[in-house]
Amino acid sequence: MNDAIESDVAIIGAGPAGSTAATWLADRGWHVRVVERSHFPRFAIGESLLPKCMDCLAEAGLLEAVRHAGYQIKRGVRFGRSNRMGRFYFADAAGTNWDWTWHVQRADFDQRLASEASRRGAIVGFGETVESIDRTSPGAPRLGIQNDSGESFELSARFVLDASGAGRVLPKLLHLEAEADGPDRAAVFTHVADGIEHPDLRRDELMITVHPERADVWYWLIAFSDGRASIGVVGDSTFIANQGKDAAAQLRALIAAEPQIAEALANATFDRQTFSAKQFATPVDRLFGQDFALLGNAGEFVDPIFSSGVTVALQSAISAAELVDRQLGGESIDWQTDFEHPLRAGLNVFRAYVDAWYDASLQDVFFTPYPPSDVRQRVGSILAGYVWNGNNPFVVQPKRRLRTLCRLCAT
Ligand code: FAD
Repeated sequence: MNDAIESDVAIIGAGPAGSTAATWLADRGWHVRVVERSHFPRFAIGESLLPKCMDCLAEAGLLEAVRHAGYQIKRGVRFGRSNRMGRFYFADAAGTNWDWTWHVQRADFDQRLASEASRRGAIVGFGETVESIDRTSPGAPRLGIQNDSGESFELSARFVLDASGAGRVLPKLLHLEAEADGPDRAAVFTHVADGIEHPDLRRDELMITVHPERADVWYWLIAFSDGRASIGVVGDSTFIANQGKDAAAQLRALIAAEPQIAEALANATFDRQTFSAKQFATPVDRLFGQDFALLGNAGEFVDPIFSSGVTVALQSAISAAELVDRQLGGESIDWQTDFEHPLRAGLNVFRAYVDAWYDASLQDVFFTPYPPSDVRQRVGSILAGYVWNGNNPFVVQPKRRLRTLCRLCAT
């Protein structure tokens, strides 16, 4: 093994969280090295963004890098179950800066962000897998890395940001993973040539529908700008597994069981591999240490239902990068107060909505024919990802407010 490569900050993973943190820190003059296991472009799930994401992209100076990619504009969400339907538009939401966002093909989106991080000065290595961490020298963690050719090397840094997503490199190596206490959910998904012609199926809406007999099983249809769409189903892992012999058969059987999605996809061509994902709700005991922090899905991921993943990834990357900049500059940082606490507060707002979605009480709110306009404004702002907005009562006391609202709508 050669001498370690040195950098100020080592970042594990070049997904949205890793590239955003890398750009932020490289812009402030730090020597940043990103270590990415795969080669881009590569398929990734998580294509429907939230308006809050646009603030984050702008704050990191990354908006221009993706603005001209031709992504499908997204203006709201359409929820459906049996013959019921409810629409929420971001334009109705209160306290937001953006009333639209995008549906992005993640292979392209992630590649653009990583290229921009590298253009701004970060070194991004592809085909390099982080396998170990040595934290015996205080303030100088060393990552053990193997590249595609089987060569090993070490990267020494003053701070490590783990943005490895489902790879969960530091949670595994440092035993930070907590016991998942929620239900065991799984997803099956693919991309199709959607063939959508029906005028009521708007490409600028994310379509979410619910299984007619299982309120805890839901479908997504994310239309892209090129006539293709991302489609998938999330539900109890045993229920999904029992639908067919493999992921493709399970997805087809589930689509056939839900009339709204089956009708939307009546002319679709299934021309791509079907993927599956399991155990994606991933709690950790803590999100930081003296010389590391966990970003995006390497930290906590709640659930895909409200498309919060990329927004949390970007928000966590910006918060952590700001603190790393100050710490490397000599300040003493209270990571609990300034990073973990606010990040978890936002995650807990999403969690309250996720729980109410799966127990079906929130579905009554979405399907209420004429919800009061202040409800549309406040709930719309959560759906737009503004879960760190302390002026919204639904953010400050999410569970209590939601319970009252769900009771009202149910009656
Ligand atoms: P990732 O995007 O996962 O990037 C992590 C990177 O780290 C990868 O490129 C990986 O190759 C690399 N890596 C992993 N291990 C190593 C290693 N050992 N060494 C080096 N590199 C490594 N979010 C949304 O916002 N909208 C949605 O519509 C949405 N839908 C979803 C649907 C499903 C079924 C699921 C499961 C998730 C969904 N998400 C969605 C969540 C979204 O996928 C993630 O939140 C988002 O990708 C997290 O970004 P990230 O940068 O943290 O990690």
